[in-house]
Amino acid sequence: MDTTKIDTGSAAPATKRLKADICIIGAGSGGLSVAAGAVQMGASVVLIEGHKMGGDCLNYGCVPSKALIAAAKQAYAMGHTGDLGVAPVEPHVDYAGAKDHVARVIETIAPVDSQERFEGLGVQVIRDWGRFVSETEVQAGDTVIEARRFVIATGSSPLVPPIPGIADVPYHTNETIFDLRERPDHLLIVGGGPIGMEMAQAHVRLGSKVTVIEGARAMGKDDPEMAAIVLDKLRGEGVEIVEEAQVSAVSGTEGAITVETPKGSFTGTHLLMAVGRKVNIDRLDLDRGKVAHDRAVKVDAGLRSTTNRRVYAVGDAAGGMQFTHVAGYHAGVIVRSVVLGMTWAKARTDHIPWATYTDPELAQVGLTEAQAKKEHGLHLEVVRFPYDENDRAIAEGKTRGLIKVMVAKGRPVGATIVGAHAGELIGMWAMAIANGQKMSALANTVLPYPTLSEINKRAAGAYFSPRLFDNPKVKAIVGLVQKYLP
Ligand SMILES: Cc1cc2nc3c(=O)[nH]c(=O)nc-3n(C[C@H](O)[C@H](O)[C@H](O)COP(=O)(O)OP(=O)(O)OC[C@H]3O[C@@H](n4cnc5c(N)ncnc54)[C@H](O)[C@@H]3O)c2cc1C
Repeated sequence: MDTTKIDTGSAAPATKRLKADICIIGAGSGGLSVAAGAVQMGASVVLIEGHKMGGDCLNYGCVPSKALIAAAKQAYAMGHTGDLGVAPVEPHVDYAGAKDHVARVIETIAPVDSQERFEGLGVQVIRDWGRFVSETEVQAGDTVIEARRFVIATGSSPLVPPIPGIADVPYHTNETIFDLRERPDHLLIVGGGPIGMEMAQAHVRLGSKVTVIEGARAMGKDDPEMAAIVLDKLRGEGVEIVEEAQVSAVSGTEGAITVETPKGSFTGTHLLMAVGRKVNIDRLDLDRGKVAHDRAVKVDAGLRSTTNRRVYAVGDAAGGMQFTHVAGYHAGVIVRSVVLGMTWAKARTDHIPWATYTDPELAQVGLTEAQAKKEHGLHLEVVRFPYDENDRAIAEGKTRGLIKVMVAKGRPVGATIVGAHAGELIGMWAMAIANGQKMSALANTVLPYPTLSEINKRAAGAYFSPRLFDNPKVKAIVGLVQKYLP
């Protein structure tokens, strides 16, 4: 290692220099996947992380939220045994105990994302904030890294808008709510998107009073018909959801916080801000690296910076869909391009699924009905199948739900599922769309009975039924066959 002093114009003078094939900034879902893939294929890799290994998903996002939802689901199930012949009981909820569960889940998964594991694979890990000092160099702490390719994988952070009063009020974001040990008596959640709704249901099930305040429509990015089923269930469980209520001011202190909106003012004991995300590019000095950006890094279809061709971006930093599996998918595209030289590798978006883990879950892949109508016009057919006609759903008392599949010229172009395990069920449609399969691929698949996945097959069946049954042409053919069949 060369230890000559380098003038980078930074406050901390650089004393070390490293050379690598690939330098990755950010050790979250995207950065770790690029690092693991690249190093195991033989590239030399430097990975820079300024905060916690594992990034948002492990520490403040998917993992803790799903762990808390699991505790809440259990509490709810104990009190709602339905007509199954099992007496419901009032669950004794230990909120701090649920948070212990959250911490244990993070701890269990953390080794997979750890510095030790990545160093074991041969990655050089630097625990500091990284920033460009030139087009070809990034500095982290006292080290300057010169690399053939850079990957920006810096993720995103909670966006807290400058609402009057917000600076003087104690509030939580996804970065602090999972550390809260005392159950909020009344949790106010500003933001009715997936994070807000998941946290709302989890908290109401764990015994808090919950009010969600949304400036527009709650779950506004989802198909409104399907979102309505989720919102209806949440309201039924006691979540107060106030829509079209743009927050104009907040005030108060711990235990008594008031949120002002045109729909009235709401007072609760705790406040969670869940209005959106901002991409982490502020620390990167992108201009110095000649990396074009707006609110995210500007990339082409191959996830490559439009201005500095040594630089790529993955995951939330690339400015598109913000999901862990998208970051992982991006990593695959980048590894192909950067490590294997397949510079023509492109990232698609049409086959990306996502799910909101409320109960019922809401999952989507490809186009929604409204988007498909716009794109395919008269060629579009929408087929549906309700959960209450699926035998397994009936047996388990989980009949609230629906699948809608958008079909154009015999192929699915989108699917929306609301209901139990929708996040699992969407996988078949994600595979069909990713591989350009026809509806017949799903209709021809034999599935075990009785399973919820038969909902998918029945939706495909709903597409073929009008073509096969009560069809004069089919009837004529059958008539002939029956007449002449020996
Ligand atoms: C509450 C919540 C729930 C979520 N649930 C889901 C879910 O169920 N399913 C799903 O798919 N997605 C979910 N997401 C989204 C998911 O967490 C993100 O899309 C995913 O983590 C993005 O991965 P990433 O690699 O782009 O960034 P991250 O995982 O955030 O990693 C970025 C890393 O870069 C580091 N970093 C930033 N700047 C620098 C710098 N200058 N130098 C060095 N290091 C830097 C950060 O410290 C961080 O560790 C959820 C998000 C939230 C907030």
